[in-house]
Amino acid sequence: MATVAWCMKCGKKTEMKNEKVIEMKGKGGTKRRAAKGVCSVCGCKQYKFLPSLKKAA
Ligand SMILES: [Zn+2]
Repeated sequence: MATVAWCMKCGKKTEMKNEKVIEMKGKGGTKRRAAKGVCSVCGCKQYKFLPSLKKAA
């Protein structure tokens, strides 16, 4: 399943290659998850924020 993310260079949404999920620190000690990869069309870097995982009760 390919992740589709906005590519600024292509100016459109493209498939992301070499996708990795990373964690970025947000405000108040929260963590934001993001997918990091490269555009399958032009090869430039892409980021896509993922919905945060809420702790299941
Ligand atoms: Zn691109």
